[in-house]
Amino acid sequence: MSKEITPRQQDYSQWYNDLVLKGGLADYSAVRGCMVIKPYGFTLWENMRDALDKMFKDTGHVNAYFPLFIPKSFLSKEAAHVEGFAKECAVVTHYRLKNDPDGKGVVVDPEAKLEEELIVRPTSETIIWNTYKDWIQSYRDLPILVNQWANVVRWEMRTRLFLRTAEFLWQEGHTAHATQEEAEIEAKKMLDVYAEFVEEFMAVPVIKGVKTESERFAGAVDTYCIEALMQDGKALQAGTSHFLGQNFAKAFDVQFLTKENKQEYVWATSWGVSTRLVGALVMAHSDDEGLVLPPRIAPLQVVIVPIYKGEEQKALIDAKADEILADLKTIGIRAKYDGNDNNRPGWKFAEYELKGVPVRVTLGARDLANNQIEIARRDTKTKELIHADGISQYIDGLLLDIQNNMFKKAKTYRDEHITQADSWDEFVQLLDDKGGFILAHWDGTAETENEIKEKTKATIRCIPIDDMGLEEGVCVLSGKPSKRRVLFARAY
Ligand code: AMP
Repeated sequence: MSKEITPRQQDYSQWYNDLVLKGGLADYSAVRGCMVIKPYGFTLWENMRDALDKMFKDTGHVNAYFPLFIPKSFLSKEAAHVEGFAKECAVVTHYRLKNDPDGKGVVVDPEAKLEEELIVRPTSETIIWNTYKDWIQSYRDLPILVNQWANVVRWEMRTRLFLRTAEFLWQEGHTAHATQEEAEIEAKKMLDVYAEFVEEFMAVPVIKGVKTESERFAGAVDTYCIEALMQDGKALQAGTSHFLGQNFAKAFDVQFLTKENKQEYVWATSWGVSTRLVGALVMAHSDDEGLVLPPRIAPLQVVIVPIYKGEEQKALIDAKADEILADLKTIGIRAKYDGNDNNRPGWKFAEYELKGVPVRVTLGARDLANNQIEIARRDTKTKELIHADGISQYIDGLLLDIQNNMFKKAKTYRDEHITQADSWDEFVQLLDDKGGFILAHWDGTAETENEIKEKTKATIRCIPIDDMGLEEGVCVLSGKPSKRRVLFARAY
């Protein structure tokens, strides 16, 4: 496969696919809408997962695991939930195959029909709340702060590597609380955890907000979200946290005895982020040469490439590389020495650039003779000669600098792409000419929201949680009064 990357300007969508495929993150699979996550992409996901997992545990959560299959009857217990997910469910109807009577392979054995069909989980609220019924009797059993790392299936019709797949990996937190207040605090706390993770580790700035009713999770009372901006000016929902009220407790009859000796339904939250975040990372930072990965989660942070003529020079460089590698590893930096003879240095430079490795160290015989080492950073593509002594400490500082610089760059772009629109013409023109987030007034009705979506493909990404756009005005479409501006964008 050619390693040529389609330039962003030419075709953003092809550029993204090129990066995912040629950068070694994932491949298409034999199953429509499902992808193969390759080792490099999976390591990236693992690094994200490990950081998030630690944050969940630091906020008091524990991991558990629930079944992949959900009895069909469970799904229908919460009316809004089933309505939302019915359109995209994979259903297991049989449990056995048999030899085709015509001798052509195997067919489903009609005798082996399941008494109750099973849904491959699109999300686990129902199976989990059915279980919580057994776990919760009194206020002493609360709160339950459980998270699950799992795969889920949503039969999406229009799929896209990482961003929207039929099967995806994610975590889903499911918590149970004695009071409404506690559950609301939890839902917001986990939104803060997501925002902190995406900004601090992925170097992608996000806006925290609440979804409108039409964008709300099926079965939720409130859906909080973080929204990020991609380099083509389109928004991406990067994570959601739901306050579920008592909806699932009522559907599964989960009641508890309060301190005051009264029976009450339990309050719930659920929250999730998925492998979509890998796509967000690619789209937010990368360039026409390849991936640009933030050091804190990059599978490989530093690569050392030798430039030499003949065995004698190679031996000297090998020894120096081993020394640097050992130093880097001692201070916890993920580094590798690529002394492979089969590829030329130029090929290696291009390869690690494509893979988005934050720092490249080039060891050349002449520089070493001068006790100097060339360091190249992926984010700014700048190179400098550094004194060889204390090189690992220098690189440690550089990785932090790269992380901060990537966030700053993404934030500058994002901030430059939050624009206010005060009339319909302005709104439409901004969407077409500039893209990004548009802060505009909306009359608060689903009809207007829908009409705007149909006319422009822009949706209300969120009603910001902070005071962004907090002023009264009139709706850009209907001219009716509006209490505050909301955030619109075309989105993935
Ligand atoms: P939800 O349960 O719908 O709130 O989604 C939880 C998280 O999964 C959100 O962060 C979504 O962005 C993400 N997500 C939803 N659908 C998909 C999909 N088809 N592929 C990848 N991620 C998804």
